[in-house]
This record gives sequence, C-alpha cells and structure tokens, in this order.
Amino acid sequence: MQVGIDTIGPKGRQVQLSPSSPWGDVVASSLDLTVASLDGTLDVKRTARGASVVIRATASGTHLCDRCGQPTPLSVEVDTTLAYRPSAELDDGQEEVELSEGDLDVGFFDGVTLDLTDVVAEGFALAAPDRVTCDRSDCGDTVGDASDGQDGASSSPFAALKDLL
Ligand SMILES: [Zn+2]
Repeated sequence: MQVGIDTIGPKGRQVQLSPSSPWGDVVASSLDLTVASLDGTLDVKRTARGASVVIRATASGTHLCDRCGQPTPLSVEVDTTLAYRPSAELDDGQEEVELSEGDLDVGFFDGVTLDLTDVVAEGFALAAPDRVTCDRSDCGDTVGDASDGQDGASSSPFAALKDLL
C-alpha cells in the first residue's frame, strides 16, 4: 500500500489493519506465521524530514517451532514508532547519519512514497521473538537443524542501525 508523502494531511493518515489483503499476507511473510487474527492501526504522520508511523497491532496464529518444527501458537504485539527519512540524506555529504530521534527506529525511503506494507513487515519483524519454541515435552529430541538461520530480523534494514545504538 503506497502512500504519497504529499497526500498526508496535518492530521495524518490512519489505516486499519485486518487479516484481509494485503495485511494478512504481509504479516504472514514477515513472521513466517499462519495468520489467524490480525488487528491494529497505523498512524502515519508527516515529519519535517520524512514520515513517522505509529504501529499498534497484534497478530496471532501458528508458527513452526524453531526447535522441533511442530506447529505452535504465536502471538506478536507491536507498539512502536518507526521513522522514515529520505534516503537522499545519505548522499548529501554529511558524514554521519544522526540518530537524534533516540529510541525511534529509523529507516529510509525515496522521500516521495512510503510503502506501508514494508512498514508493517518491518514493525512485526522487529517485535518478533528471536526464537519461537513450543512447549511439547518431546521438543528438542529432533534437535538441530529445524532453524537454519531463518530470515526475519537479520535481513532487516534496521538491524545494522540497532547495532550502532
Ligand atoms: Zn518444539
């Protein structure tokens, strides 16, 4: 879902999340989750240097245990603000990318259009547990390769920034 920055008014743009397209698919691939429920809101605001998105959402469903590969329930709650700045700032000769917005996670976009599906995928990826394991008594007996590095947070454009904080 593309939102032109210029179309965001003073009150911002509110978007309701639901399991229907495209959100269910976005969350499913972000979390590697079979989505049973998804509810929440996005509050998109324009900022002096780009945009910020407040994400408050909860998704639940079935995830495969990272240890034994059996289906296990997973619920992920997101309550965060992601800030986006024009990627052109990276090329304007400033040596350092300022992280003055403190706790906010900062991503970059083209300065014109923000893809909210990417934002939602990012928000859930950041909130997801590093490792999901079931509580079966025999979990772990088949040890080992069920989790082969996975994708998720490690591929996040925010991951590198987080390491710097
Ligand atoms: Zn397990």
